[in-house]
Amino acid sequence: LTEKLQNVFKNLRSKGRLTEDDVKAALKEVRMALLEADVNFKVVKSFIKDVQERAIGQDVMNGLNPGQMVIKIVNEELVRLMGSETTEIKLQPGSAMTVIMMAGLQGAGKTTTTAKLAGKFKLKGKKPLLVACDVYRPAAIKQLQINGEKQGVEVFSMGEKNRPADIAKAAVQHAAKNGNNIVILDTAGRLHIDEDMMSELQEIKETVEVHQTILVVDAMTGQDAVNVAGTFNEKIGIDGVIVTKLDGDTRGGAALSIKAVTGRPILYVGMGEKLSDLEQFYPDRMASRILGMGDVLTLIEKAGEELDEGKAREMADKMKKAQFDFDDYLESMEQMKKMGGLSSIMSMMPGLGGMGGKAKMPDLDSEENTKRMARMEAMIHSMTPEERRNPDLLNPSRKHRIAKGAGVDISEVNRMVKQFNESRKMMKRLPGLMGGKGGKKGRF
Ligand code: GDP
Ligand code: MG
Repeated sequence: LTEKLQNVFKNLRSKGRLTEDDVKAALKEVRMALLEADVNFKVVKSFIKDVQERAIGQDVMNGLNPGQMVIKIVNEELVRLMGSETTEIKLQPGSAMTVIMMAGLQGAGKTTTTAKLAGKFKLKGKKPLLVACDVYRPAAIKQLQINGEKQGVEVFSMGEKNRPADIAKAAVQHAAKNGNNIVILDTAGRLHIDEDMMSELQEIKETVEVHQTILVVDAMTGQDAVNVAGTFNEKIGIDGVIVTKLDGDTRGGAALSIKAVTGRPILYVGMGEKLSDLEQFYPDRMASRILGMGDVLTLIEKAGEELDEGKAREMADKMKKAQFDFDDYLESMEQMKKMGGLSSIMSMMPGLGGMGGKAKMPDLDSEENTKRMARMEAMIHSMTPEERRNPDLLNPSRKHRIAKGAGVDISEVNRMVKQFNESRKMMKRLPGLMGGKGGKKGRF
């Protein structure tokens, strides 16, 4: 086998396992990163403990060093903690009306987000009604009206003289008559968690059927946002969270803690003051932001994804059964090319690429090696499909034909077939080579 092919095979095996030292060293850095990103201290502690347990003994993917492998696991775990996938606001089935109550401290972004959400629902063909339940500041009602107008949605208000719960009740009745299938209650916040605010929200919930209570928190408040989320969830119960002001330079560690503390998903993130600046929440993007190791993650993704997962697994299965044939051999070379050659990958790695990189690496992409690969490909292409599937057919006369077709010497054909048979034998001798792992992307 050429070095390149050996490396493809290594992709399907493991390149050693993570030791306790590897894991501890990498997690030290991760702990710092998380604390800097304003992730709650307790959350960091239990997170690190979980990851440590999970990581020790895991296989290191080819193309990654142990430290990067730990980061990969950390990243996956962060994504999992935040819910793995995007979550939608749960609407009532069919044409039934959904009542959504917005909650949160003053200035968190409730009124703005209410209008932003209205725009999203409108795009989905819904007919939202916005309700001004903030009766303490005349400006708040006006603000909702202006934003509602911008979005082209109706705003229901009864001035400042009524109780929020009564306004909500009247609004729901109005919506039923008016054909609104979504009602969003924009409530009043307070500067701090406060009994008045909580009982006001509770009263609304007792008066009308609220299907979704959505908490709006300001990412810039960091740890406070987490405490706020915990308290709101305890006192009134929340169904989901919207984190605003992520357009600022906060790394957004609060997002991680919020999910960990409340168990409720983050639904959207506010990315600016404009009414279009509301984005779906993507746990993977958030994880990358919180870790602040974008470059490493990009590299990890490249190592993991460019090797076509389905094909690689298929190959692994064949290898297990020692059914690996020349077609697979060709396939593995293609995979190698897709990865852009070994040295290109290695040169991207911090620590390897940085230190004079390519020059110090064994020259895997040397001209000679590349030519050898090309000749191997030519030889395999000169085989008939039967020969590729059943290498045992290759008798001397067939080998002669192949050598001629590929424009190489017969000795080279012999060498390749011999190497191929040897590697097949090796695979046979290593049953359970690929273990029973499977599952996650890029891990074998
Ligand atoms: P409320 O008191 O909870 O209703 O908060 P508001 O909706 O009135 O928002 C308070 C301030 O935060 C306003 O100046 C908004 O323009 C601003 N704001 C809200 N969401 C965002 C966001 O995602 N990014 C930025 N940069 N500003 C926001
Ligand atoms: Mg408001």
